[in-house]
Amino acid sequence: MRIELLGAAIDNLSMQETVLKVTSFIKEDRPCQIVTLNPEYLYRAQKQSDWMRLVREAELVTPDGTGIVWACRMAGRPVQERVTGIDLMLSLMPVAEKEGWRIFLLGSGPGVAEEAAKNLKKQYPELKVAGTHHGYFKAEEEKEIVRQIKEARPHLLFVALGMPRQEQFIDQYKEEMQVPVSMGVGGSLDVIAG
Ligand code: UDP
Repeated sequence: MRIELLGAAIDNLSMQETVLKVTSFIKEDRPCQIVTLNPEYLYRAQKQSDWMRLVREAELVTPDGTGIVWACRMAGRPVQERVTGIDLMLSLMPVAEKEGWRIFLLGSGPGVAEEAAKNLKKQYPELKVAGTHHGYFKAEEEKEIVRQIKEARPHLLFVALGMPRQEQFIDQYKEEMQVPVSMGVGGSLDVIAG
């Protein structure tokens, strides 16, 4: 069930249900985008139609940010629980390890994605990291990065370029990349890298 809030439709799923949904996306034959919606994004999307379009077209929209959870409750349509980008990413790791899903980490400063991958592999030794790339690239380098991602054939792409760039990057290239599941994760790679 989706909850309508200020023009966006938010999926009312628990974390466990969200992980199951991702599993079903991976079995599907089309690229899916997950948006973890926070109040700042939703606020600005009121005036930026392209920001809103992207949310409306996303295959899954989770209630990130306590402000979203609160607003849904105030509107009389409470969500089951808050589902943040980092929590979802970390909840997917044991499943990725078990299912053999390859992950790609894009974004954050030089070396951060590699360090995050190393830490994830410490905890999930069988986890398959298809590739990493930092997030400080020029516009003209974008095509080459998209090519690298496509060639690495990950099942899951985590993009840490900050909001809304990460959402726009996925939106722009998802058809070309053909990654089953892509999501923006903000500062999560910095956190995981430690
Ligand atoms: N970032 C990046 N390239 C840029 C700008 C930002 O890779 O051109 C990274 C930055 O290093 C950080 C992440 O994007 O790791 C954004 O984190 P932030 O906490 O600002 O994102 P938010 O969660 O607020 O969207």
